[in-house]
Amino acid sequence: MSAHGSRRPLVVGNWKLHKTRAEARALAAGVVTRLVAAPEVGKAVDLAIAPVFTALAAAAQELTGSNIRLAAQDVYWEASGAFTGEVSAPLLRDAGCEYVIVGHSERRQLFGEQDADVRRKAVAVLGAGMHPIVCVGETLAQREGGETSAVVLGQARAAFEGLDQDAAARVVLAYEPIWAIGTGRNAQPADAQVVHAQLRATVADGFGGRVAEAMRILYGGSVKPENARSLLSQSDVDGALVGGASLDAESFFAIAAAAQ
Ligand code: PEP
Repeated sequence: MSAHGSRRPLVVGNWKLHKTRAEARALAAGVVTRLVAAPEVGKAVDLAIAPVFTALAAAAQELTGSNIRLAAQDVYWEASGAFTGEVSAPLLRDAGCEYVIVGHSERRQLFGEQDADVRRKAVAVLGAGMHPIVCVGETLAQREGGETSAVVLGQARAAFEGLDQDAAARVVLAYEPIWAIGTGRNAQPADAQVVHAQLRATVADGFGGRVAEAMRILYGGSVKPENARSLLSQSDVDGALVGGASLDAESFFAIAAAAQ
């Protein structure tokens, strides 16, 4: 068994607000081509990409027949109704998504998303048969103030509140220190490992050791081909949520290869 126990690494590309349908097709095709050329990566690592909503269908077509999964970047918790501008979990499932990112720090910081919203979104994603990728992370001021554990574990507890064991087991966690996102400044691998181990212990407290041991906890924040191996070799770092570097097929695939 590897340092990660029975957990298969998961590497997810968060394309954020980038790419037309044609560009999304080309990028998805670039990742598929690389996976075909290096099937050993696909045998060892789960891969997913999260395009903008308008490019989900185009990307889904390119992924057909590959093992690369489709993810969405956000969701609304109601299934349908008078919620102009929103997209629901059943519709994302219908579009071919298997994962949905919830509580990304950009949603929390720029759009005022609260812990309770993140929990509702996670519940909706689970209810539609997908896996929420629940993002948690502290600001630089919180880190410097020694509040990292309180903030990160508090966000995680809030997201898991009210879930039963089966539902909790389908959650993916992503530790994304806000000061590391899009800044080129990644957490030191040992520092990330400390937070990941605390998150796993928190899941164990709430749902038992079996759920905690199986849960994938991704690291996100300026993951690049150059730093991926040192981050991903930490025993509780089970993959990566990749922003900027996922916009280039070569660098995204290099990160996936480093997760083997
Ligand atoms: C992200 O968007 O989740 C992220 C980690 O971005 P970046 O890799 O660009 O820091």
